[in-house]
Amino acid sequence: MGLLVSKQICSRSTYWNVVTKASHSNIWKNLIGVREIMLNNVQFSIGTGQKFKVLTDPWCEGETLLQKFRHGLVRRLGFTWSSPLSSLIIEGGWNFGLLQADIFTPIKEYLQTLSIHLRPDKLLWDGGDFTFKRAWKGCRTHYPEVMWSTICWGKTRPRWSIHGVFLFHERLPTMFNLQKRKVQLAPRCSTCLQQIDPRDHIFVQCPFAMKFWGWLKDALGWNVDFNSILSVEELLTWFLLQTSKLIKTLLVAGFWSIWQERNRRLHGHSSSSTTDVARKTLFELGS
Ligand SMILES: [Zn+2]
Repeated sequence: MGLLVSKQICSRSTYWNVVTKASHSNIWKNLIGVREIMLNNVQFSIGTGQKFKVLTDPWCEGETLLQKFRHGLVRRLGFTWSSPLSSLIIEGGWNFGLLQADIFTPIKEYLQTLSIHLRPDKLLWDGGDFTFKRAWKGCRTHYPEVMWSTICWGKTRPRWSIHGVFLFHERLPTMFNLQKRKVQLAPRCSTCLQQIDPRDHIFVQCPFAMKFWGWLKDALGWNVDFNSILSVEELLTWFLLQTSKLIKTLLVAGFWSIWQERNRRLHGHSSSSTTDVARKTLFELGS
């Protein structure tokens, strides 16, 4: 990538100071977008000076030499835009022979505070070698874990997990969601044919869903009043309070069964009774 940057995009500058253009690719624009994060975290470990450019790379603790000192002063050193940092290094140390004039004293004094290592130049991140993987792990946004993650990503069947994730992200193709995407459909619940079918109706409020959860309650002896639970979130909250992992898994297994029955009815296939669907769900959970 470094070669691409220097040859294709930054022929007269570097990643650290190039200005984005409309013609640049999105990948490149994204890389430029995280430049400030990079600058705040990357350390320039100076070695032979052959990898870094003396004027345009921010090897002065996050700043370029031109940012650190007056332009007029730095330009008097005679470096070009493409001069490597090695132009300022000789025999493993700073070439103070170039900085003998008094006006260069501030630069000389600053360089004395920077170490030079007996190895090639390196970019460091968190004390180790810079890699995109390490940088990504360090700067990506860490979202708080969602409540449903333990249930969806526990030991469940993959189809239950994936369906659960789609459901909790409001991405199921319910009539209600399809209509929001301008698909012209009558947003009726295909199970009860009465109500519109947003997520909470299909999986909690629909008479079919209420009977489904009610049958499980009676079969397993749960102490809960499902009539007072009106949303997927409330149902999730109740399941999260259960200590048995198997019972928690029953939530996503139940969602899957209700969705399958809803689709069978929607597409005109033979329907099953609530009892049959609930009993089959329980059987699959235990098998
Ligand atoms: Zn319904």
